Amino acid sequence: MGVDSAMQDLVENDYLLLTPGPLSTSPTVRAAMDRDWCTWDDDYNVGVVTPIREQLVQLATATEPEAYSCVLVQGSGTFAVEAMIGSVIPPEGKLLVLANGAYGDRLAQIAACLRIEHVVHDCGELVRPDLVKLAAELADDDAITHVVLVHNETTTGMMNPLGAIAAIVKAHGKILLVDSMSAFGGVPLDIAELRIDYIVSSANKCIQGVPGFGFVIGRVEHLEKTKGWARSLSLDLYDQWQGMEKGRGKWRFTSPTHVVRAFYQALKELAEEGGVAARYARYCENQRRLVAGMEGLGFECVLSSEYHSPIITGFRDPQHADYAFQAFYDRLKAQGFVIYPGKVTGIDSFRIGTIGHVFPEDIDRLIVAVESSMYWV
Ligand SMILES: *Cc1c(COP(=O)(O)O)cnc(C)c1O
Repeated sequence: MGVDSAMQDLVENDYLLLTPGPLSTSPTVRAAMDRDWCTWDDDYNVGVVTPIREQLVQLATATEPEAYSCVLVQGSGTFAVEAMIGSVIPPEGKLLVLANGAYGDRLAQIAACLRIEHVVHDCGELVRPDLVKLAAELADDDAITHVVLVHNETTTGMMNPLGAIAAIVKAHGKILLVDSMSAFGGVPLDIAELRIDYIVSSANKCIQGVPGFGFVIGRVEHLEKTKGWARSLSLDLYDQWQGMEKGRGKWRFTSPTHVVRAFYQALKELAEEGGVAARYARYCENQRRLVAGMEGLGFECVLSSEYHSPIITGFRDPQHADYAFQAFYDRLKAQGFVIYPGKVTGIDSFRIGTIGHVFPEDIDRLIVAVESSMYWV
């Protein structure tokens, strides 16, 4: 199958989703859903769920896979984040939340909602967390037991310095939780090397599956201690983990079978592409062409370029009285591209994602479409 353009796909889909999830998937991933599965049969649990759990751990760490285990959780990505935060912090624990965007804010909201004691380190959306301040906060407050951060802040496309943050958090002996929703599987990393204790992502981001479940990969020695800590029944990570371990891939409650089968296919296609390194290279090339093309047309990025990730890029709205996002969006959609509204506070902007079944040639076509959609110039 040719994988250099998603063009052939437009026969089935009217437009490419240049959004950070759900995103455009391959026809073969969608076709994998065309079959029914029994949730207590080995064909599904042993044949599909168990290999997915094992492969996700291998994607997370090549150096120490035996130290980690993967738990799949029904729902969108936020459900898996909530399962993680709500289950792995003991009743007397305290969480430090690093926030520099809407998804970081959501981590704090979850902690507040679950009445978990927490403190928020917010440095604003356009810069990275202040590492000196982080080290001081951890040194000053012995009550903090856990730290959580967003890996790639999808609000802006900011890639947070995971390695440097992990080193500080672990030097202070805290347990480290990472929301790598929009980066995992598309950005190389080794959670054992970085000493990350828990990482969370979902089916419909860089692994390029369809939406319906998320997953948490956690250090077994920590997971084992979390029994009874969950603040929710359905989002009890320990119970879900034990169910999957003892039931050889059995989910406690109805699992999204078709979505899980599509994800199995998506993992196969990730391996066929050449693994995370090859996918990362494609996303980087997508993003490089996007920024070069958009800047060539006079658009300005929201973030300075050293903060960019290959996942999504924010652009400032053109400073022109006639410009309106909806009209621009409609023109692009009519030409086969769906873009994303902005989410940065105080800056009028829009975002374009470069992940999914989307290739550099598609980005070249997008730039042509953008040029012809600039009705305001
Ligand atoms: C997509 C995403 C989530 C989860 O969002 P859902 O809408 O619940 O799937 C969480 N964190 C980040 C950084 C994300 O990009």
